Parts: sequence; structure tokens; C-alpha cells
Amino acid sequence: MPSSTNAQSGVVVLGSLNMDLVVQVEHQPRPGDTVLGGDLATFPGGKGANQAAAAARAGGAVRMVGRVGSDAYGRQLGEALAALGIDTGAVPSHQGPSGVALITVDAAGENMIVVSPGANGRLASDELQAAHLEAAAVLLMQLEIPLETVIRAAALAQHHGKVTILNAAPVRALPEPLLANLDVLITNEGEAELLSGVSRQDYDNLSDFAEAATAALLTRGLRAAVVTLGGEGLVWRDSSGTGRQPAHTVEVIDTTAAGDAFCGALAARLAEGAPLAEAARFANAAGALATTRLGAQPSLPDRPHIEALLAS
Ligand code: ADP
Repeated sequence: MPSSTNAQSGVVVLGSLNMDLVVQVEHQPRPGDTVLGGDLATFPGGKGANQAAAAARAGGAVRMVGRVGSDAYGRQLGEALAALGIDTGAVPSHQGPSGVALITVDAAGENMIVVSPGANGRLASDELQAAHLEAAAVLLMQLEIPLETVIRAAALAQHHGKVTILNAAPVRALPEPLLANLDVLITNEGEAELLSGVSRQDYDNLSDFAEAATAALLTRGLRAAVVTLGGEGLVWRDSSGTGRQPAHTVEVIDTTAAGDAFCGALAARLAEGAPLAEAARFANAAGALATTRLGAQPSLPDRPHIEALLAS
């Protein structure tokens, strides 16, 4: 596994690395259907690796903590992150397959994804020593690795006084001890509905729903919540209050990594000490830019582009 070193890791990302196998189709197949698509494209992905790449592209000093398999994909996944200056010293390769995601993107830019976790599913909490959480400002996690490992990492990071962020994707029920160790929970609309118990149908518009959902989430022990609303932007809430931000108007090509771009950029700005509303503003621009290009990591915007969109 190639690795680059990064002594002052502002952001530690604990999560998955997958090879994304992407085919563009006119329409998504239904069960039993066969559809012909375009040429196969392979992109390094996985929510963990994507968010690490997003944080690095957005200007963060990043250390990745994860696991890859002993196949060619594993080597390529590590190389892709190291090429962005990310410290990959805590991404060992283990016997067996790497994580893979099978993705189809239709003409409207909507995607369908099947993930085979591979090595990601075997990332155990006893590997967290290599994470060097004490050296970071922020710990950013998702749910494509074993939940036990996420729970343990959040507790360790809080013990060291670090800012903990969880992007609750793919969504599942979260135990109270984990929520109590979270500074920021990031969800999209569907994830917010599931985790908050607030029904989207009870509200006239998305932002009203998201305000109610974040209020409900904050009663469960976490310190702040951000709900991303796709083309309608986001709602944030912390102990200081709540705010709404509309989405930037962009030409959407592929929404695959919008959420990952958002989470990585938010973590990078929080690691710099920015308040939540400011970090969300920065992340909102990163998310928008990620929809304008095909793929996951290659579509992630760099800091000059994010700042240019914010200034426009
Ligand atoms: P996910 O991909 O996790 O479902 P969203 O679709 O909510 O997440 O997108 C995350 C963020 O990316 C949004 O909050 C917004 O900042 C940006 N974004 C997503 N879709 C669009 C869009 N159509 N136009 C502009 N920005 C977008």
C-alpha cells in the first residue's frame, strides 16, 4: 500500500474505500430487465474515500483510516488518495476482495447503486490505534463500515476532545450512546425522516420539514444537525439556532458524490475553526459543483472553485 505522510492531520476520515464501476444508461432497468448502457468507467470511490478526497480538495489536511483488499482495486484505491496528498498510512490491505460499488446513472443524472463491502466490512475497532485521533481536529465517519467501529471511534474522539461528525449513510438506526458522542450529524432528506421520526408528508415544503427534523434530532443527545436537501440546499441547527441555505443553480450532470463533497468540505472548514453556518455555506457550494461532473472522486471540486462559486 503506497502512503504519503501528513503530520498535522486536521481531518481524520474513518470509512469505506470502494472501486466504483459506472455505466450510463438511458433508463434504469426494472427487475428482470436488461438494458444496454455506455462504456464501463471505473472510479475510486466509497463514502469514506470520497469524503477524504473531498476534504483534501477543499483544503484540508487529511488522514484516511480504512481497509482495502489484496486485489488490484485495493492498490489503486490507496494510490488515488495518496495522489491527493492524503495520509494513507492507516489503510492496510488484507487478504480478500476490496469494496466495490456497481453504479448506473440515467439520462436525468439519477443513480442506482449496489455496494459489496469486501474489506470495509472487516474494519474492526482494534485497528483504531492507527487512526491517531489525538492528532486531528475533526473525525468524520459514515456507515459503510461496521457500526461497532463507528461507535468506538466516536467515543475515543470525544475522549480526546475532538469534533465528531457522522454522515448517517447508508442509513440505519443509531444507538443513543453513539448519538451522545456526535457533534454534527449530517443526513439527506430520507435519512433525516428515518432517524428523526418526523414525516415529510406533514410539511408543505422541504425546509419546514428539515427544521422540524433537526429539532427532533437534537433532543437525542447530539450537538448539531445538518439536513441536505439536494437541489433545495440545506437546513442546519445547533444550540445557537437554525438556518436555511438555498442550493446554487448549476447544470446537473451526475449527483453521485454531491453528499460526499458536502460532508468532506464541511469537515475541512470545521477543522479550520469555522462556525457551523459558515462551514455549511462552504459545503453547499462544494456539493453543487460536484453535481456538474461525472463520477465520484474526479468530480470533487477544489478550493479555488468552491471560493469562486461563493464569490459569484
Ligand atoms: P445526497 O447525495 O447525500 O442525497 P443531497 O442530494 O442532499 O445529498 O446533496 C447534498 C448537497 O449537494 C446539497 O445540500 C447541495 O448543497 C448539493 N446539491 C445536490 N444536488 C444539487 C443540485 N441539483 N443543485 C445544486 N446543489 C445540489
